[in-house]
Amino acid sequence: MLRVAVVGGGPSGSCAAEVLAKAGIQTWLFERKLDNAKPCGGAIPLCMVDEFDLPASIIDRKVRNMKMISPSNREVDIHLGDENEYIGMCRREVMDGFLRDRAAGLGAQLINGLVQSIDTGVKRQGPYTLQYADYSAGGPTGEIRTLEVDLIVGADGANSRVAKAMDAGDYNVAIAFQERIRLPKEEMSYYEDLAEMYVGTDVSPDFYGWVFPKYDHVAVGTGTMQQNQSLIKSLQKGIRSRASARLLDGEVIKVEAHPIPEHPRPRRVVGRMALVGDAAGYVTKSSGEGIYFAAKSGRMCAEQIVAASDGGRTIPTEKDLKVYIKKWDRKYGATYKVLEILQNIFYRNDAAREAFVEMCDDKDVQRLTFDSYLYKRVVMMNPWQQIKLTLLTFASILRGQALAPQSYQPVASAVRSPEEMEARRLARLHPTVAEPVVSADSEPAAESKPAAASVALDGGARQPALASKS
Ligand SMILES: Cc1cc2nc3c(=O)[nH]c(=O)nc-3n(C[C@H](O)[C@H](O)[C@H](O)COP(=O)(O)OP(=O)(O)OC[C@H]3O[C@@H](n4cnc5c(N)ncnc54)[C@H](O)[C@@H]3O)c2cc1C
Repeated sequence: MLRVAVVGGGPSGSCAAEVLAKAGIQTWLFERKLDNAKPCGGAIPLCMVDEFDLPASIIDRKVRNMKMISPSNREVDIHLGDENEYIGMCRREVMDGFLRDRAAGLGAQLINGLVQSIDTGVKRQGPYTLQYADYSAGGPTGEIRTLEVDLIVGADGANSRVAKAMDAGDYNVAIAFQERIRLPKEEMSYYEDLAEMYVGTDVSPDFYGWVFPKYDHVAVGTGTMQQNQSLIKSLQKGIRSRASARLLDGEVIKVEAHPIPEHPRPRRVVGRMALVGDAAGYVTKSSGEGIYFAAKSGRMCAEQIVAASDGGRTIPTEKDLKVYIKKWDRKYGATYKVLEILQNIFYRNDAAREAFVEMCDDKDVQRLTFDSYLYKRVVMMNPWQQIKLTLLTFASILRGQALAPQSYQPVASAVRSPEEMEARRLARLHPTVAEPVVSADSEPAAESKPAAASVALDGGARQPALASKS
């Protein structure tokens, strides 16, 4: 009988374990931290809710409005007219816990343990011996144990130990930084079903900055490529500064950072070890989306294991497992490519970003973007739409040169008048009102925290008045 270890209990691991357990395959699902709150915006596409049978309780907020904000603060509103359509906003600790428990309920053996090393056998073909620290007794260090299996699914995220054990090769990563900010009721109600996406060199030279509504707070963050990692602190100041009027009196309750893979690893299957989700490198360019692709890749990989093993009666070969990679690349290769091209065109400089936001004002562009995001389907354009889109791209890029700003201003408050904002600004200039310092979160959320996560964001002239929780 086939024995499978799934390392990592995020969306990719749990969705893989669920399929394996359902097929009656002996499955162990390892998760080092059962209440792990993965640093994440938590936005999921609508199709994921049905496809993965997610209950309503997983979705904290249904976002139907999206505001794109250009470097010159041009705001373009995108509204999902159909009331059945939305972007789901989740807390990862809630969603991950649900998916993990569902897999365990179907028969996967959930182990609260950190996989520390893997003996991969002759020529990495297995059987595989995992050494792990078992935390199920509740101690801080855990009890060292071993487990032998025939196959491993590496679902252990961007710092994957399985990838190292199988010599999967490296990938470039982006660094994402995020602060969770609790807002007073008035400000929070503005973000009720609205997400904001800011572009500009001030918030990210490579991607975008975001304000995403969560259960009782907003997640405010930015991402940049690894080579710009040293800028991350100033970029976070940038997004705080631009959104400052809308984050008035916010309280920073958590600071977090995590790597995001930029492309797949050179090898995703070696011997009888297969990578899925972030461990494989399945986050899209442009949007930085990875939850759906993690869940989907876990499921597709597991389905291939079930099929190739005849329901667990035989041990699949490397060639069998590589069928999953072929299917994956055929299904999503074009999506990744298109998003990479869009990133290269529109995130190049502020003129291109102005053009990008301007283009998003077009209803055809909005429908196209949302259909492909919400439903993960390639939307065919009619010839007229194609011509229009091409002309729009050229025109916007030309106009963008003229519109791009020399410096960045905060956007206006959405719930207060300019007079009230000015009064507050003057009040804050009073010497007794000190700018607070945001301290780093000390929770061991990341396997190896990027240095940026432990850097305090010191108050600056353009910082919003945010209190920090010690
Ligand atoms: C700041 C930020 C914002 C993001 N926002 C979004 C967003 O809004 N929408 C979106 O779709 N994507 C977003 N992403 C990307 C998304 O978070 C990832 O693509 C997704 O979490 C990948 O899921 P996964 O299951 O592959 O890996 P992970 O979610 O990283 O899960 C890996 C799991 O493995 C566990 N683990 C690791 N090592 C071991 C070990 N040795 N032993 C046992 N357990 C181990 C970890 O504790 C973790 O629970 C964001 C990423 C970041 C960093």
